[in-house]
Amino acid sequence: MNEMQTKLNELKVRLEEVKALNNAQAVLSWDQSTQMPPGGGAARAKQLAVLAQLTQEKAIDPAIGRLLDALQKYGESLPYDSDDASLIRVARRDYERDVKVPAEFMARFSAHQAESYQAWTQARPANDFDRVSPLLEKTLDLSREFANYFPGYEHIADPLIDLSDYGMKVDSIRSLFKELRARMVPIVKAITSQPVADDNCLKQSFPEAEQIAFGRKVVERLGFDFQRGRQDMSPHPFTTSFSVGDVRITTRVQERDLGDCLFSIIHESGHGMYEQGVDPAYDGTPLMGGTSSGVHESQSRLWENVVGRSRGFWEYFYPELQKTFLNLQKVSLDTFYRAINKVERSLIRTDADEVTYNLHVMMRFDFELQLLEGKLEVQDLPEAWRERFRSDLGLVPPDHKNGVLQDVHWFSGFVGGAFQGYTLGNLLGAQFYAAALKAHPEIPAEMKQGRFNRLHIWLKENLYRHGRKYTAAELVQKATGSGITIDPYIAYLQTKYATLYKL
Ligand code: ZN
Repeated sequence: MNEMQTKLNELKVRLEEVKALNNAQAVLSWDQSTQMPPGGGAARAKQLAVLAQLTQEKAIDPAIGRLLDALQKYGESLPYDSDDASLIRVARRDYERDVKVPAEFMARFSAHQAESYQAWTQARPANDFDRVSPLLEKTLDLSREFANYFPGYEHIADPLIDLSDYGMKVDSIRSLFKELRARMVPIVKAITSQPVADDNCLKQSFPEAEQIAFGRKVVERLGFDFQRGRQDMSPHPFTTSFSVGDVRITTRVQERDLGDCLFSIIHESGHGMYEQGVDPAYDGTPLMGGTSSGVHESQSRLWENVVGRSRGFWEYFYPELQKTFLNLQKVSLDTFYRAINKVERSLIRTDADEVTYNLHVMMRFDFELQLLEGKLEVQDLPEAWRERFRSDLGLVPPDHKNGVLQDVHWFSGFVGGAFQGYTLGNLLGAQFYAAALKAHPEIPAEMKQGRFNRLHIWLKENLYRHGRKYTAAELVQKATGSGITIDPYIAYLQTKYATLYKL
């Protein structure tokens, strides 16, 4: 075996140890959110902190740096998309980011994060912004400090955006959002000036166990593999994975809201199918997992909205849904279809429909930038929030819990980089779907017959199997033949909503 192979193998062993520690933390976090009794909290926090420190130490071990240096030329001599070149490239990017941030900072930040999250869980129901505002100020300081470990940025939010959407910059996101906003606002205005769709059919009594069972049946049909995954309950649905063969999704259920459980299962199964679709050869390596939060969210939104809220999808599933829930038997497919695609100006981002959703995201993105730039003070945030809501959505939040305190993000992570992925996901979901349709125009007809395999295989081939091999920009280019663009998303909304409203 030549010297480079020996070094590469040594690198792989070290990186796989880091990934194993990461995955072990993910198991403990999953357990904490789904199974753990409240009494386990303190011990779990300790276990997670120890593992986080061990992981960080292993990840920034100078031996990894030396191996990466020694392998640099060799990696560049291999074809760009070969597995080994990609592993070396992605590992170097991760390593260079991790070594720049002192372990002492990470410990300080994670202690603050725990305190701030804890305070938020009490402040939100109590509607008490003052309780968390000093903590949010500190989060903002820590976010700036983090960014400043990466000197040379164009905008202070860029290093924070890099954490979730590597390669995206404030500048490019701003211009994308500006164009999107200009084209969305007339659509939102046209729809919301018409009578609101009646969704009472979704607000009847639906036994919880049957909702969960139905959701499971749906996502199994879409292609989520329960031999390599499972579904549990949690107050906030999420997806996590410990290996390509073990991907966990969670859901929640409300007896009088049929849409909540059903669409959150479909949403999470989109994230889950992405994780399950990564090339098994990358399992346990830095190439495992999704490439960015925008691309990840594109898969949850594609399956949830583009597929799961389409008429064709329900032509297949609605008769089965009516058999499961007899109180839908007198509700026509048209009524049901309008109900699940109800558009209205609303206060809460996570409940927003797919038409108004991006307005919620864009306002948070702008606030993050203004806070980081020092143009907006934390104490002025509630008023800024009310003002922006009034101008964008014509609504004024009656209190903080339905306003500035609604999202967990700024109380459990950095200010900066937390929200853009949701809107990038909406745009990319439509762009990927359009590319899949171009390759296989028969997809919609097959969906009406309950066949989703062709779409799933296209996504696996073009996106999922690559894991983190390509950056989001490279992946979008390869899969769709162009950079990220808003046209497919606008075309999708216009076509779909023209059948539901006068546009
Ligand atoms: Zn998601």
